[in-house]
Amino acid sequence: MTATAESTGFRNQLFINGEFVDAKAGQTFTTVNPATEEAITKVASAGVEDVDAAVRAARAQMEPGSEWQKMKPRDRGKILFRLAEMLGARAEEIGRIETIDNGKPIFESQFVDTPAAAECLDYFAGWAGKVTGETIPIAENAFTYTLREPVGVVGAITPWNFPLMLAVWKIAPALACGNTVVLKPAENTSLSILKFAEYTRECGLPAGVLNIVPGPGKVTGTAIADHPGVDAIAFTGSTEVGKALMARAAKTLKKVSLELGGKSPNVVFADADLDAAARGALNAIFYGKGEVCAAGSRLLVEDSVHDELLAKVSERASRMVAGDPLHPKTRLGAIVSKVQMDTVLRYIESGKNEGAKLVIGGERTDIGTGKGYFVKPTIFDDVDPKMTIAREEIFGPVLATIRFSDANDAVEKANGTMYGLAAAVWTRDISKAHRIARAIKAGTVWINTYNLYDPALPFGGFKESGFGRDQGRDALEKYTQTKSVWVNL
Ligand code: NAD
Repeated sequence: MTATAESTGFRNQLFINGEFVDAKAGQTFTTVNPATEEAITKVASAGVEDVDAAVRAARAQMEPGSEWQKMKPRDRGKILFRLAEMLGARAEEIGRIETIDNGKPIFESQFVDTPAAAECLDYFAGWAGKVTGETIPIAENAFTYTLREPVGVVGAITPWNFPLMLAVWKIAPALACGNTVVLKPAENTSLSILKFAEYTRECGLPAGVLNIVPGPGKVTGTAIADHPGVDAIAFTGSTEVGKALMARAAKTLKKVSLELGGKSPNVVFADADLDAAARGALNAIFYGKGEVCAAGSRLLVEDSVHDELLAKVSERASRMVAGDPLHPKTRLGAIVSKVQMDTVLRYIESGKNEGAKLVIGGERTDIGTGKGYFVKPTIFDDVDPKMTIAREEIFGPVLATIRFSDANDAVEKANGTMYGLAAAVWTRDISKAHRIARAIKAGTVWINTYNLYDPALPFGGFKESGFGRDQGRDALEKYTQTKSVWVNL
């Protein structure tokens, strides 16, 4: 397999203990380019025994005296800084791999996701020497203090929508805190993080600190959840799988953090800058083909500006045409897989059947090749909050427009799903903006913007969108545990 991988530039083997290896049982799965429907390569599929080998390698680097544990925290940080620089310099190479595997426009993978992953590494590299405990005075005859220690081996499981970036969101803070990682990428999109693994070797990351085990969730993911040598699970994915994983990990009482799905409300008041809100609404739902956990998939509009705003959004959306994801001008790529495209199309049918009004889109499209899993930007109006398309995460380019009458009605509707990942408020009234931001139950609220992220700002969910935070200082909580030391004086 290595020869094929090297001749195509892809890495398609497991990455265990610093080496690219085949699965012990020799199993593979095929990964497909969703824009062409052609097979890209066969990827090694990790079984229970491969996960065990990865966990052993990761455990060895958690032992006292290992290269990773002996390394000064700031020297770990230096490796992460080098990785950040390398990723930035190789954004074109890894971005291309991501685009071919995921179907997202090269504009996104090369100029947004990869730089964001590099910034995340850069940010957490800076934390490496700064994760400290405290001295806590309690009595004259005692010296008491806390140590912030790594949790140990982190089992990270990630989805296919931002394959490189979301994996780095786990890896960077975990390594900055001195842990080791066994990561399972989504089976649709394993290639970018395998390429990243190659970079980690060049940057001097000791063998075994990061291990990548592609494979199906039910086999490889379950093996990670079950393995007694894994101390913590850092998961990003659907709410359904997150719940199952948490139950599974409870058997060995792993520390679990879950970054799950969303059905985020994008609330536009009548006093908003409607042109800015229309641009924001478009970015909120159609960026990344709507395969964004924080996608603004519910557009909540105040009655009096409903028609005007909807006209602006629809006019702009109808100009968004799917294109070859590798073309630099393309802004709408291919849905990640046939399975996901079929799911999106089923939701569109349910919207029609339940009585929502289809304004634009609503069907599959192509880019002149007769191939590829492309779906037109789709907008529904007259959506009732009880309809399936208003409640369930579609994870595709489908917008549900819902009216509201006043601020109370807006908040009630905004909070009316089981999710609480993100939200936005558009208004020129600064007091109202802050009041609504407090009232909405979500981990992130944008005011007069959408889809902005920074490694310094925590990201994660309320309600059934999960718990635990990626990014920011909060992420360090996931990857450390506190030890209290009492010295009798
Ligand atoms: P998914 O839950 O189907 O899969 C996520 C990962 O879990 C994959 O690696 C998959 O192989 C693995 N998996 C599946 N079944 C498993 C099992 N039984 N045991 C262990 N692992 C298992 O999600 P997806 O379809 O890859 O991604 C889309 C979902 O991810 C959406 O719900 C989206 O909202 C969510 N998401 C959340 C965030 C966030 O930060 N909150 C970010 C991106 C995506």
